[in-house]
Amino acid sequence: MTALKRKLAIVTGGGSGIGFAIAEKLIQQDMKVIILGRNAERLDAARQQLGDACHAIPADITHLAAIPALVNSIVEQHGPINILVNNAGINHKKDFTEVTDEAFQQVMLTNVTAVFTMSREVVKSMLPLGAGCIVNISSMAAQYGIPKVIAYSASKTAIEGMTRAMAVELSPKGIRVNAIAPGFIYSDMTAKALDSDPERKARVFGRTPMGAMGQPTDIGDAVVFLSSDAARFITGVVLPVDGGNSIGF
Ligand code: NDP
Repeated sequence: MTALKRKLAIVTGGGSGIGFAIAEKLIQQDMKVIILGRNAERLDAARQQLGDACHAIPADITHLAAIPALVNSIVEQHGPINILVNNAGINHKKDFTEVTDEAFQQVMLTNVTAVFTMSREVVKSMLPLGAGCIVNISSMAAQYGIPKVIAYSASKTAIEGMTRAMAVELSPKGIRVNAIAPGFIYSDMTAKALDSDPERKARVFGRTPMGAMGQPTDIGDAVVFLSSDAARFITGVVLPVDGGNSIGF
């Protein structure tokens, strides 16, 4: 996909799991990738693994006031940003009545407000180019009721609405905005929970027509596609990458 060659991408949460695989797949397309995350040590280990095309910047995206300066310094140092992947996200699993206002707000701050602020600042650098691409990582929790993840579900549904609203406003200016809704993907977020609970793992596999969990690289491949010219006429969609989970069984 030559259209991606030498372009610059930011991947939030690129130090682990799905974000790492997204960064890796973009780098395989000859792109330069900036990965962001809070854990500086883990981020640096990821940067070493990803090689010279990767730059790591320790940053907490919930520090909203710092985002404009962060994005400006990236543009000053590396040039205009072509692709933003809003991948960083957190979950908070608790019974409905045990979710505190603070915990709910923290999930919304990370998964929604920070996605908005990052996108707003990056779009400012895309507008003069008249081109750009944003990919938001949602979840099937946006479409399904899943018990004990109230804030996560609300946040992912918000991301999908935001994706459509951004797409209608920004696509006339050359900026495409899409989302990916991963199904059950084997990553840090899911591995511990499933490996320690074989019955749940069997249920997950049973609910997925393809009978398996996805790999982080499956999401990376979908990001490459949506970011590339092969998707030049695609904007405002939510692409399920879920082994058929969303079509029922
Ligand atoms: P991980 O927990 O492995 O990764 C989450 C990443 O987000 C980490 O790298 C973390 O880095 C980063 N992050 C979290 N909070 C912040 C913050 N405040 N500032 C900067 N970075 C932050 O999870 P996954 O890889 O599984 O998830 C990636 C995305 O995919 C999430 O949006 C998740 O909701 C979504 N998803 C995952 C599914 C799955 O099955 N795994 C299914 C559906 C959706 P650090 O801790 O260093 O800050």
